[in-house]
Amino acid sequence: MLSISDLVKVYPGPVTALHGVSLEIPTGMFGLLGPNGSGKSTLMRILAGLLTPTSGRIVWDHEDVTNTPERVWPRLGYLPQDFGFYPNLSGAAMLQHLLTLKGVEAPGGLARLTSELLERVNLTHAAHRKVKQYSGGMRQRLGIAQAIAGNPSLLIVDEPTAGLDPEERLRFYRLLSELAENRIVLLSTHIVDDVAMLCPRFAVIRFGRLVTVTTPRAARAELQSRLYEGIVSRTDADRLSQTHAVTHVRLVEGQHVVRLVVGDTPPPAGFVLAEPTLEDAYLWLTRAGAAA
Ligand code: ADP
Ligand code: MG
Repeated sequence: MLSISDLVKVYPGPVTALHGVSLEIPTGMFGLLGPNGSGKSTLMRILAGLLTPTSGRIVWDHEDVTNTPERVWPRLGYLPQDFGFYPNLSGAAMLQHLLTLKGVEAPGGLARLTSELLERVNLTHAAHRKVKQYSGGMRQRLGIAQAIAGNPSLLIVDEPTAGLDPEERLRFYRLLSELAENRIVLLSTHIVDDVAMLCPRFAVIRFGRLVTVTTPRAARAELQSRLYEGIVSRTDADRLSQTHAVTHVRLVEGQHVVRLVVGDTPPPAGFVLAEPTLEDAYLWLTRAGAAA
């Protein structure tokens, strides 16, 4: 269990990136979902021990590690959002280099550990290809390979699926869910589908504050029997946004499909009940003006 309490981070500026975040993260996959600038990377860098919080506490397995991040490093794997690359090295050479920097123990030798890790992330076939020829998904899998070296019990991955095509994304999901079988995997993302596919529990973060900690099912259930959908003109879509809690206006084949949440008032004429998706729930939770 990883327990975070009242974490505050003020950058010079001052910019308050975290306004007192408290969170309990059990073993398994846990999602941190929020728009750009909401404080995800700040939280992950603090948990990875690369950034000092302004105040707050981090307790991992009953040990306060707030001011002793080096105690966490041997049990921690981290894939940063801006994972750096040496484009002219082969995947194997780059990984071996990173393992050396990390000081990972390799009783059977670094070369052997490197090939085991490449095998684990399905990159054996590309081990000797230059990293600059890797696809986005292959790069992220190489990033995971360095992160899981040493078999960490906490794996932190910051927006790992951004920029992956749908097939690469699915492949990456499978890898992450396997890795979450026996450790904490903390996944930050702005992509609702990542959470829908992977996370039994997740937190929503916005403007440096947690909006909620919930499950995909419970988040959807909040909107059950309250979410309506209708097809309207563009001007009506604009007008409805003024008068109703519109969660979503999307274009479908040139038509404006509006989804909105009703309270005590009846839905607009022609609107029908809709099955809430996690995206609806997320848009509802983070809607403009929502109490944070
Ligand atoms: P996210 O990862 O969710 O996009 P970040 O944690 O990167 O969010 O950023 C949260 C807020 O902190 C943003 O307003 C961002 O501009 C600000 N921020 C991030 N890093 C710094 C920094 N080094 N100095 C000042 N402000 C920063
Ligand atoms: Mg970020």
